[in-house]
Amino acid sequence: MRIAVLALQGAFAEHRKMLQTLGVESFEVRQAVDWEQPKDGLILPGGESTVQSKLLKELYLLDALRQDICNGLPVFGTCAGLILLAQHVENDVRERLGTMHITVKRNAYGRQTGSFFTEDNFAGQTIPMSFIRAPYISEVENDVEVLSTVDGHIVAAQQGCQLVTAFHPELLTDTTVHRHFLSIVKETKID
Ligand code: GLN
Repeated sequence: MRIAVLALQGAFAEHRKMLQTLGVESFEVRQAVDWEQPKDGLILPGGESTVQSKLLKELYLLDALRQDICNGLPVFGTCAGLILLAQHVENDVRERLGTMHITVKRNAYGRQTGSFFTEDNFAGQTIPMSFIRAPYISEVENDVEVLSTVDGHIVAAQQGCQLVTAFHPELLTDTTVHRHFLSIVKETKID
């Protein structure tokens, strides 16, 4: 199994470290030629979605990634990655991948409470969650499964092989969310 990690900006190194802990090979995607490598899944890290979407477009990666995701490549987006995957964003007009049938609010917790830590339920298990200037999901369509709700707001969801979290599992040591993603990748892998 080999996972592509988008490495234009943000917390990509932490995702790679987490994959390494779980014994999974990964590589960084920094330009279009990197995307040609064989891969079984993609991770979109947290960071700044405005910067990431601009770079994705400038580097001719936006359409290439979108096409593979639409063709069933499993993808896991954290925080800014969640924003990039959202079809609708309440407070942003930039072009995105937009493959997930969710509506998202950016920087949804305001300045004061922008960063916080909590423990809550993810797909039936209590896990630690670290939020940093996080978005939340304000609406989901019928094909989207809600995996976590914190204080009445949806913070993790899945639509087929697309997984998103508003929090950052790569910054903590709990491996639950990454293992959940890897199980999606395993189910999807044909060979
Ligand atoms: N606030 C950032 C954005 O809008 C996301 C924050 C994060 O990824 N930690 O892109």
